[in-house]
Amino acid sequence: MRICVLASGSKGNSTFIETTRGTKILIDAGLSKSELEQRLSKIEVMPTDIDAILVTHEHSDHTKGILQFSKKYGTKIYVHQKNWNTILNKVGEIPLSSQVEFGDKMFAINDLAIQSFQLDHDSNHCVGFSIYENNKKFCTATDLGHTTPTILNELKTSDFVLLESNHDVIKLKNNQNYPAKLKNRIMSQHGHLSNEQTAEAIFELLGNTPRGVILAHLSEQNNSPEIAIQTIKQTLISRGANVEKEIRIDVASQEHLSNIYRIKD
Ligand SMILES: [Zn+2]
Ligand SMILES: [Zn+2]
Repeated sequence: MRICVLASGSKGNSTFIETTRGTKILIDAGLSKSELEQRLSKIEVMPTDIDAILVTHEHSDHTKGILQFSKKYGTKIYVHQKNWNTILNKVGEIPLSSQVEFGDKMFAINDLAIQSFQLDHDSNHCVGFSIYENNKKFCTATDLGHTTPTILNELKTSDFVLLESNHDVIKLKNNQNYPAKLKNRIMSQHGHLSNEQTAEAIFELLGNTPRGVILAHLSEQNNSPEIAIQTIKQTLISRGANVEKEIRIDVASQEHLSNIYRIKD
């Protein structure tokens, strides 16, 4: 499996995944159609080759491009059955022939097996995805206010993980541009994970399957890649972890494509 985060952050999210046999999907399409086209061209992928776009939830930073992209390329849009109405209200009429719904059971897209799991977030129905190619597993979890044993179990049993590390709590609290209501929403059980919460989750992963974590959905105003990495590494080290040896930690960016990660059989 080959993975590239095309963009990650509050202005737009999209992750590209390709199997050895050539199945290509996106998790979310929160960039404009032309921005998606440009970013895909940088990894030499034709938009027409995208087999499906899986949507986590309706917020525009995850759905901005899905209508135009699916209209132009006929791409199938996969949305949880509890979220189709909300998505259609939000983005407009996606062609019926492109609408695919999934439920809580595992489903397949060519040689990929996919299991969604629920995340607590201030949206109608937000999901993370566990994505399997043969016996290898990649897991995505962004836009969640807290972790649960189910979510941690999905992460622990993955080879590679994309996990939100949204904000630094002090930076958020001191941010003069954010009204108190918004701060409380972000820090609530239905908001976003702080660096500290993400550190806690990554600590739980140590000694399990994951070899690497991509930190995702960093707030532009209330976080930075340096602060996120430092907070997480310090927490892990203070608990006795040998971070460099045990897990690779990278950060996905809003502006640039990530590295291309390969999970090998
Ligand atoms: Zn959201
Ligand atoms: Zn988001």
